[in-house]
Amino acid sequence: MKQIPERSAVPTALTWDLTTIYPDDSGFDQAVATVKAQAQKVAQLQGKLATSGEQLYQVTAAIFDLNRQLERLYVYASLKNDQDTSNAHAQDLSGQAESLVATVAAATSWYEPEVLGLEPATLQGLIDAEPRLADYQHIFDVLGQRRDHTLSAPEEKLLAGAGDIFGASAKTYSVLSDADLQFPVVQDEEGHDVRLSEGLYGVLLQSTTPKVREQAFKALYSVYQQFRHTFASTLASEVKTHNYTAQVRHYGSAREAAMSSNEIPAVVYDTLVKTVNQHLDSLHQYVGLRKEILGLPELHMYDLYTPITGEPSLKYTYPEAQQEALKALSVLGPDYVANVQKMFDTRAIDVVENKGKRTGAYSGGMYDTKPYILLNWQDSLESLFTLVHEMGHSMHSHYTRSNQPYQYGDYSIFVAEIASTTNENLLTDYLLKTQTDPHVRAYVLNHYLDGFKGTVYRQTQFAEFEDYIHTQAAAGQSLTADFMSKFYGDLNARYYGDNVISDPQIADEWTRIPHFYYNYYVYQYSTGFAAATTLSQRILSGDPAKRDAYLNYLKSGDSASPLEVMKRAGVDMTQPDYLDRAFKTFDERLAEFTKLARELKK
Ligand SMILES: [Zn+2]
Repeated sequence: MKQIPERSAVPTALTWDLTTIYPDDSGFDQAVATVKAQAQKVAQLQGKLATSGEQLYQVTAAIFDLNRQLERLYVYASLKNDQDTSNAHAQDLSGQAESLVATVAAATSWYEPEVLGLEPATLQGLIDAEPRLADYQHIFDVLGQRRDHTLSAPEEKLLAGAGDIFGASAKTYSVLSDADLQFPVVQDEEGHDVRLSEGLYGVLLQSTTPKVREQAFKALYSVYQQFRHTFASTLASEVKTHNYTAQVRHYGSAREAAMSSNEIPAVVYDTLVKTVNQHLDSLHQYVGLRKEILGLPELHMYDLYTPITGEPSLKYTYPEAQQEALKALSVLGPDYVANVQKMFDTRAIDVVENKGKRTGAYSGGMYDTKPYILLNWQDSLESLFTLVHEMGHSMHSHYTRSNQPYQYGDYSIFVAEIASTTNENLLTDYLLKTQTDPHVRAYVLNHYLDGFKGTVYRQTQFAEFEDYIHTQAAAGQSLTADFMSKFYGDLNARYYGDNVISDPQIADEWTRIPHFYYNYYVYQYSTGFAAATTLSQRILSGDPAKRDAYLNYLKSGDSASPLEVMKRAGVDMTQPDYLDRAFKTFDERLAEFTKLARELKK
């Protein structure tokens, strides 16, 4: 058994260096005092921004500066906390940072309504009168788009006060599914009794023993099905909240309200759904291949996650993985590679697992710090994929922060996963070019195809369901469990096709998907994955102009709308082309995988 070390036993070289944020905790304490004092000052600026362009600049700059200092101390505290969540001192820092977020939000809440209270011409006059405001034009443009959807101050206050109440159904959903649901005991691969949970379910569904998968599937759904009317009630209430909020803010639909917060037009969503539906036959084919390779007389919904290529024989130590990452990403040019190397050389990465460390992986940091990466390294191909994924986020942050002013120094969720997934695609391509062992090649191809299935197809399926229940509810339909299950079951059968048995339980899958409470979030996973496939091919074409267009996207941050940024990078997300190209890649890799998998089975 591998022992997980205490934090103090981890070699320094494998930990991140937080002293470049503050040399020690006294720097953090000072920052807290400064932010508190500055928040008080900013609160007193209320009512003063319209007197001149100079004044509008001073107020705006003061608010951004306050948030910038807040972010820095917040990042310091949260990284410290994540490296060892059992550390009481780190918990204290994190608690202080959390409460300061609320303090700053309260001290600056008047700013947006005050700006939007100005006539558009008056506001533009003030901006034009002060040259230093030119760098904030896009901020004001985005704010201006909310003008018609912002209510009077007393109405906004009423809505804000009801925020907790509007969030109640999502809260009830998560308490019920995370805390209260009790799952039965089932047998694992070795025949041992194990108490089922959502986490263990994911593991058991990958079992190579069909009986284990079936039993886990049936046991899990038997529990959700006991509460399907309760889940229908929480989901219906959540949908009503989205619809109601959109209506009182004068949006045409909940979808329009949600998407406009990222400046994304409806056509992006509609194009995605339409195009994915035109390519469902590729998914049917992939599912059919799974049935063939597994040699099952019947393929059930619970047979979709067991590996069909076996475990990968490739293992990488962390130093080996660093070298592979550098080679795979070298197509992005010497500057990109040098910046990746710098991440390795300056202790920007917290590499290994230790007791109390947050699980999973992420890329963090803020405008004035280096990008930081948290990993829980295992010597596996999967960890190498995680490393290049998080490196994609970190390089996006690096290039944005070194090319944009603070106010544009972040990027929207719509474009964020594109940088990371592009890197995964570049690694896939690199491995296919360098690995000759058919088992390894099959694993790499399957990794890509499964990612595509789980992201482009599955998240679009979710998006279709989500839009259906919102529009039905808006039209007066009551969202009962049976009504939702009928649609979901049919939808699922349409996505997976005739090669898989649509087990009756799957019609109730909506009961256990937390993303349906995220308000039109999931479609971005699909658009992002498809855009990344197209962008990586442009990079790999060897045309330096295409590579530079990609790097330019990394440098753009929030300086323009996400769609504009992607368009300049070479992907027009209002058109189906980028999706069609992604499906072409899926089909090509599926053909190669089919050939390999059949040969390996012989
Ligand atoms: Zn990511």
